[in-house]
Amino acid sequence: MYVVSSCLAGIPCRYDGKSCANKVVVELVKQGKAVPVCPEQLAGLPAPRPCCEILAEQSGKKRVMNADGKDLTKEFVDGAQKALRIAKEKGITKAILKSKSPSCGCGCIYDGTFSGKTIAGNGITAELFLENGIEVLTENEADKQKAFP
Ligand code: SF4
Repeated sequence: MYVVSSCLAGIPCRYDGKSCANKVVVELVKQGKAVPVCPEQLAGLPAPRPCCEILAEQSGKKRVMNADGKDLTKEFVDGAQKALRIAKEKGITKAILKSKSPSCGCGCIYDGTFSGKTIAGNGITAELFLENGIEVLTENEADKQKAFP
């Protein structure tokens, strides 16, 4: 069983009000092998919404800002904790999360300049999952794995 990003399951919860359905993930959900979760919606953020990126402070602390300059760190942390709770309640230890997202990205995220550039790093939810022993794959890695669905 997997936790998967809702947008990969075809749910239009992205900042632009669209989804980004991934065949592998959609099939896993259809077969009852995955639970879709959108941390940003769990935090009460609407779709569409202004795009967000993570700014890393010198202290190493992460701040999430939207394109309008609003600090949404609290909401992103809240959504991540709610997503983790769902995974734990269901005993799920694997996730397939949307690449590059400030919530779901794993290994690579946008750099905080809203210019399309990426840097090494994890989204807030992906990081919390990893800290709690949940294996996180992006949809790109899931596509390459022959074991799916
Ligand atoms: S928070 Fe995750 S699931 Fe929700 S829209 Fe962003 S990438 Fe998709």
